[in-house]
Amino acid sequence: MAELHVTTCPRDPETETNLRCGRCNELICPNCLIQTDVGSRCPDCAQIKPPPMFQTSSGELGKAALAGVGTAVGLSLLAGAIVVFFQIPFFGIIIVGAIGWAVGEVVYRASGYKQSKSLQWVAGLSVLSSFLVLTIFGDFTAILGLIIGTYYAIQRVKPPRGV
Ligand SMILES: [Zn+2]
Ligand SMILES: [Zn+2]
Repeated sequence: MAELHVTTCPRDPETETNLRCGRCNELICPNCLIQTDVGSRCPDCAQIKPPPMFQTSSGELGKAALAGVGTAVGLSLLAGAIVVFFQIPFFGIIIVGAIGWAVGEVVYRASGYKQSKSLQWVAGLSVLSSFLVLTIFGDFTAILGLIIGTYYAIQRVKPPRGV
């Protein structure tokens, strides 16, 4: 008869488990694991804070949001005026894509070269504000650019996996 390999939690030896900490790979069980933003961690690893470049304070987020929304709205007003005066078809698609790229750069710099989940929200919402401005000018094709632009902006401030 084949013997079943049963593993137990080193912290709670009574508890059978096959869950492992996402960082150090040690066995953990539902009693001792700590759920973090980046998955289940053992209590030791859960206490380790991510490096400072992947943590954003509310002050840094505020600066990044101001810069991001400012850039997005400013560039969109300019782009909207171009759309209205020159009647360029589908300009919105290209322009929101390009604005998204610029917003990602600006948010990244304004936060002090940081990358975090919160900054991704800031970047995404900034691009959304540029889309809203362009719809005032009646350029609804901008919605396709919004998808591209949001992608660029969010990728720029994306923290690496497992931080
Ligand atoms: Zn661990
Ligand atoms: Zn345990």
